[in-house]
Amino acid sequence: MPEYSGRAAILDRVKAPLSIEEIAVLPPGPGEVQVRYVASGVCHSDLHVITGDMRHDLPVVLGHEGAGVVEAVGPGVTTCAVGDHVLTSYIPSCGTCHYCSIGRPNLCALRDRPRHLMLDGTSRIRRRDGSAVNHFLQVSSFSTRAVLLQEGVIPIRKDAPLDVICLVSCGVTAGMGAVLNRAKVKPGSTVVVFGCGGVGLNVIQAAELAGAGRIIAVDRLPYKLGLAEEFGATHQVNASTEDPVRRVSEITGGFGADYAFEAIGAPRVIETMLDCLHRGGEAYVIGVSPHGSKITIDPSLLVQERVLSGSSFGGSRQRVDLPMIVDLFMGGKVKLRELVSRRLGLDDINHAFDLLDRGEVARSVLVYS
Ligand SMILES: [Zn+2]
Ligand SMILES: [Zn+2]
Repeated sequence: MPEYSGRAAILDRVKAPLSIEEIAVLPPGPGEVQVRYVASGVCHSDLHVITGDMRHDLPVVLGHEGAGVVEAVGPGVTTCAVGDHVLTSYIPSCGTCHYCSIGRPNLCALRDRPRHLMLDGTSRIRRRDGSAVNHFLQVSSFSTRAVLLQEGVIPIRKDAPLDVICLVSCGVTAGMGAVLNRAKVKPGSTVVVFGCGGVGLNVIQAAELAGAGRIIAVDRLPYKLGLAEEFGATHQVNASTEDPVRRVSEITGGFGADYAFEAIGAPRVIETMLDCLHRGGEAYVIGVSPHGSKITIDPSLLVQERVLSGSSFGGSRQRVDLPMIVDLFMGGKVKLRELVSRRLGLDDINHAFDLLDRGEVARSVLVYS
């Protein structure tokens, strides 16, 4: 019999509301960790599964921006202990594969394993009728309790508020890491950021941290452009009324930008990024485009040494970068509270997705009592 129970939001069908249900959580197996979640951010990647833009086996407990406390560990767990405060890493890192060995643990080989089940190919989540429910990225933080791989659990300092730093488990690291780890933005440079939500705002604050001279924020919503200014953007471009390429050209005296970042998941915007750069400039895709998307680019732009690349979980070394960002926040160098537009309970999760879909929030955080 299952030892633990919890409440979770379950997605049964694409485009259907999530249902909040009592669940049973089976005890952690070898190398697994049971976490009592305290809070979870609500991210666009979760929404992509609900809308069907990202395919996933159903039913599933979504959520991948979690923070909580370890309440049980399975045999052989060495990376954390009962009572540890932890963030989740939706990309696990094993520490021994090719990618982990060369210092790129965000590309870890564990990503090639099915992500909707534990490594033994089974789920730890049960409905009251005993049927199994899929995990999401082995995190499933839209639940008061879950079992994770120890490779996806990152212990952090205990004095940091879990209902704020949960955002470091995805959006904050995705945005900041793209700037600091992938692009390695240089002081004085010009940075363009497309999309000023829960990821783009972190591109902006990391660009400021890196000493960028000009930070040009592009969005269609005045509310988001206001937030962008608060986070350090020096210029705001409303793409619903202005042409971003022309405005970037004007702002840079016809030269173009050094770096561009796309935090939306829109193929057209990825194409636009390259037009904003000067020769040798670098563009990074962070947003997840709908399944099956394609882009069209003029190869001559690449021959002029413009770079088009991407960033996965901010190119982070999860066990180093997540605690570091928490330290930056606790030291007053990074804004996280300002990212939290709404605090809601698990029962309000469908409302949280409505707000996200309408672009009315930077981030909503679900807080579990
Ligand atoms: Zn996310
Ligand atoms: Zn690995």
